[in-house]
Parts: sequence; structure tokens; C-alpha cells
Amino acid sequence: MPVSAKIGIGANLGDARDTVLQAIQRLVQFPQTTLTKQSSLYQTAPLDAGGDDYVNAVVEIQTELNALTLLHKLQELELAFGRERPYRNAPRTLDLDLLLYGSQEINTDSLIVPHPRMTERAFVLLPLLQIDPLVDIPGLGAAQKFAAAVTEQVIQKIA
Ligand code: AMP
Repeated sequence: MPVSAKIGIGANLGDARDTVLQAIQRLVQFPQTTLTKQSSLYQTAPLDAGGDDYVNAVVEIQTELNALTLLHKLQELELAFGRERPYRNAPRTLDLDLLLYGSQEINTDSLIVPHPRMTERAFVLLPLLQIDPLVDIPGLGAAQKFAAAVTEQVIQKIA
């Protein structure tokens, strides 16, 4: 049975909008995986650091891949985009987070699901709520109730 998973996507180097759209195209090519929902693109100010604004989105996929295999595929994809870095040691071009994997709670050395910081970040919560307003975060409850705490964060939907 396929599992519904939510993936957070972010980029802030080069043509970040194009990177996010290309990453989504690559995600759909994962084996035994289909794209079921795609948020708008959002532009957000960096939270903890300086630098360019980010472009963020959240997608929902249905996948037969187990959570760890999915994480590894996401990391491969990050690396594939990282190889297109303009110079050595440049920051990463693409960040992919496994936010939710069905209703599972996973806590291992390499994978924590739900993603531990997802409730604190407007750039995750707003696109997530756009595609799934009633989404539940296993162990924490309705995602909607965390939205009020991130209203100070600057985030803008890109047309
Ligand atoms: P980051 O630099 O934020 O992309 O973090 C990457 C590291 O977080 C990797 O070592 C992953 O194994 C680990 N990690 C733990 N949980 C997750 C998750 N839900 N999604 C993505 N990376 C995760």
C-alpha cells in the first residue's frame, strides 16, 4: 500500500525558483512514487542566517518506498543539485526535508519524522496547510494550531 508523504523543498542559490520546480520534476521520477499535491512557491527571508531569500514549497507524494529509502533518494537529489554548485564549498543549492510519512513517528539516528522543526517554520507550515488544511502532525495534533506562532516570519506567495 502506498504511503502519503509530505516533502519540504527549499533553495536560495542561483535561480532558486527554477531549482525548486526542477526538484519537483525529479521527485516524481522516484520509483513507485506519484505526485498528488503541490503548493504554491513561497519566497521567505532566511531565518537564522543572512544571504538571499529562499524559495520554498511543499509537495505531497504517494510512495511505496519506505521512509529511509525515501530519505536516501532525497539526499541523492540534494547532492545532484549540489554538484551544480557554482564554486567549491558553495552553500547547498537545494534542501529537501521529509516532513511527514503517513501517520508514522520515526526516531532514528538518521531520520526523525515528523521533521522536528516543522512547526516553527512559516515556510513549511503555510505551504503545508495550503495543500492540506486539516493535516495532522503525529504526536502533536492539527498543524493549523501552530500557524499563529509563525505570523511574524516574512513569507510571500510568488505569483
Ligand atoms: P539538513 O542539513 O537540515 O538538510 O539536515 C540533514 C540531516 O538531517 C541528515 O543527516 C539527515 O539524516 C537528518 N534528518 C533527520 N531527520 C530528517 C528528515 N525528516 N528529513 C531530512 N533530513 C533528516
